[in-house]
Formats: sequence, C-alpha cells, structure tokens
Amino acid sequence: SSFESLGLIAPLWEAVRDLGYENPTPIQEEVIPMLLKSETDLVALAQTGTGKTAAFGLPLLQKTEAAQRTTQGVILSPTRELCLQITRELKNYAKNLPGLGITAVYGGASIRDQARELSRNPQIIVATPGRIKDMIGRGMINLTGIGYCILDEADEMLNMGFYEDIKDILSKTPADKSTWLFSATMPGEVARIAREFMHKPKEVTM
Ligand code: AMP
Repeated sequence: SSFESLGLIAPLWEAVRDLGYENPTPIQEEVIPMLLKSETDLVALAQTGTGKTAAFGLPLLQKTEAAQRTTQGVILSPTRELCLQITRELKNYAKNLPGLGITAVYGGASIRDQARELSRNPQIIVATPGRIKDMIGRGMINLTGIGYCILDEADEMLNMGFYEDIKDILSKTPADKSTWLFSATMPGEVARIAREFMHKPKEVTM
C-alpha cells in the first residue's frame, strides 16, 4: 500500500514522499488509518526503528488546526535527544502545512529560550516530563485545551522515574482528549498508566 491510500491529506503524503519514504512501515499501515478514522485511545507495542514517530506524528499533524493558535497536542518523551529528534521529524512532515508550529521543551537548557519559542503559540509541544511539569506550574504552558496526548517510549519514561510527573501532567489535560501510548515493552507500570488514564484503548503489537 501507499501513504496516499492511508487517508492522509496531500500536503502530508507529499512531504513523506519528498523525504524518500516509498511505502508505509507495518505499524504505519495499521495505526495511521485507525487514528485518522475515529477518536480513540491507543496502546502500541513497538520498538524504535519501526517508524512509530510517523505513525503517531502524521495523524496528529492532520488533526491539528493550523489556523487556531493554541496548544492542541503534546508529546511526552524520555530524553532531550528524543524530543529534538521527534521535533525535527515532525517539522519535516509539516513542511507543507503553513502556520503549524512544533516546539521542543526539555530540561538542561534555558527556560527563557524555550519560553520565547512558546510565545509563538505552537500547536504541538514535544516535551520531557520534568521540564513541561515545571513550565505548566509557572503558567508558561497550558494543556487544558489539548485534544491529543502522546506518551512515547512509555517504558523508558517510567524507568526513569517519571510516573508522578506524568500523572501530574495528565491531570491538567481534558478528560475527553485522545491518548496514544507507545512502548517497546509492557511492564506493570505501563499497564497501570493505560488502566488509570486511558479509555478502552485499541491495542496494536508490532
Ligand atoms: P522511528 O521508529 O520513528 O524512530 O523511525 C526510524 C527511522 O525510519 C526514522 O529515521 C524515520 O525517518 C524513518 N522512517 C519512518 N518511516 C519510514 C518509511 N515509511 N520509509 C522509510 N523510512 C522511514
């Protein structure tokens, strides 16, 4: 199958075509049509290298309203490197979507610089849990209007001790958002997050 046949709009499939992606990976083939078709929670067991970033990133970009300059989606990721990698990848996919902004927020870097980026009102924030929790607490980020929350590498985030931070962040998001969780493994703590914070998630294993 092709990216065109998954239900993606032309600005998105043209962008991935320009990146040299010829065919969707198995997880993209399964998850992209599912996420585009209806609002659902998702638990996906998938390793790095499977194309999972595009599997959640392309539907998220398609569902984001570029004309509305409010935070609509948040992606939580365990490390600064991963945040930057996801941000870079999403910006490549969004190159034909004018007005759509994506910003990374992570620890160990200047809060003022990140606050300046946020003042441009990006619709999508890619964040490490500790830093975004801090910035929510300072009133620099408001997630009360988001429609989508993605937990990437959930097992890694929990291994790093981010359970309480994630819980705190999710408590400041709307109950009716969609949550998409990606994890390489499914230890009890990940199952607990799914049980406590998600509603009848669809399950996909790669
Ligand atoms: P990920 O599993 O999201 O970390 O992606 C692994 C790598 O595969 C990234 O460098 C992507 O740019 C690339 N990639 C993702 N989807 C495709 C695809 N359908 N065809 C070729 N490369 C891809």
